[in-house]
Amino acid sequence: MKIQAAVVDAPGMTPAIRQLRIDAPRPDEVLVRIHAAGICHTDMVLRDGHLPLTFPAVLGHEGAGIVEQVGAEVHGLFPGDRVVLSFRSCGTCPSCTDHAPAYCHQFVPLNFDGRRTDGSHKLFDDQQGVSGNVFGQSCFASHVLAYADNVIRVEADVPFHLLAPLGCGIQTGVGTVLEALKVRRGERIAILGAGGVGLAAVMAARIAQAGLIAVIDRHDTRQQLAKSVGATCTSANVGDLPGDFDHIIDTTGVIDLAATAAQKLAIRGTLALVGAYPPVESIAIGPAFLMSAGRRIIGVIEGSVEPKKFVPRLAQMVETGALPIDRLVQCYPFDQIVEAIADSESGRVVKPVLTF
Ligand SMILES: [Zn+2]
Ligand SMILES: [Zn+2]
Repeated sequence: MKIQAAVVDAPGMTPAIRQLRIDAPRPDEVLVRIHAAGICHTDMVLRDGHLPLTFPAVLGHEGAGIVEQVGAEVHGLFPGDRVVLSFRSCGTCPSCTDHAPAYCHQFVPLNFDGRRTDGSHKLFDDQQGVSGNVFGQSCFASHVLAYADNVIRVEADVPFHLLAPLGCGIQTGVGTVLEALKVRRGERIAILGAGGVGLAAVMAARIAQAGLIAVIDRHDTRQQLAKSVGATCTSANVGDLPGDFDHIIDTTGVIDLAATAAQKLAIRGTLALVGAYPPVESIAIGPAFLMSAGRRIIGVIEGSVEPKKFVPRLAQMVETGALPIDRLVQCYPFDQIVEAIADSESGRVVKPVLTF
């Protein structure tokens, strides 16, 4: 079958929309027609060649759409289902069997390789194979081949452009607050960075009825946006954080900022590292400061959630208005993908979503 897809030919290049050929679904695969696709920071990391993805490649890992065809071994999904696509997990490793698929021992090959696990391609440009299995989807395309483990049926009456970002960015922010940190009523939380993940965390902190929700961001417009979705105080300077905090979430990936904020951890407080960190950096925090008061530093992937359970909950929160992510989303027609990515990288738009 012929499809339209945004192809990145080499690391660092901008995508160009071309016609490709997509394989027929194998018995474990699900053909989904994409209606909306969110743009996430990890797409830029992949585009720039920092992960083990081969090029040419089709990026995109926040897809939403309608199931068109289901392989013989896939159960519980049917043509016509409205679905959100999320990350892949193996289902059998120690993390997966302990309800922690975001820490799947096969996470890197399943989500970043770009080919099927047997090395075959799903997408073809003339005779050449194109990486088309990013997060088991590569949804900057009119159609994708996904899997039973990363396709989630959603019943909530929510439009596709608000469903798409639930599969990565929004579940990361909300999941970190509600699932990884389990923030409780009255607790004090600080969130570093008011991007899509940080602002989703603010909304979740409000749902959890946190007592104080502080947001650090250098841009005044983002501070205003944070206030409008639940932040109780904002500043450009981490030194202005008032008092100490039961929870601090770093979404910026700026190690010095996270380390400075960590000095504000309360007794038994936790710093959650959620950003994209350069692999060689280290964080300077005194071991006695941690040990003497039961403080912790944890890494969090995808909010530590089980998407099959959590994404339908998120969709309900959007439907009821508890999670007003329409404040963060701006839609672009698929053929404006270059502008959408530029607006994401410049910070002009919090969460660009491509529509098909
Ligand atoms: Zn696994
Ligand atoms: Zn993502």
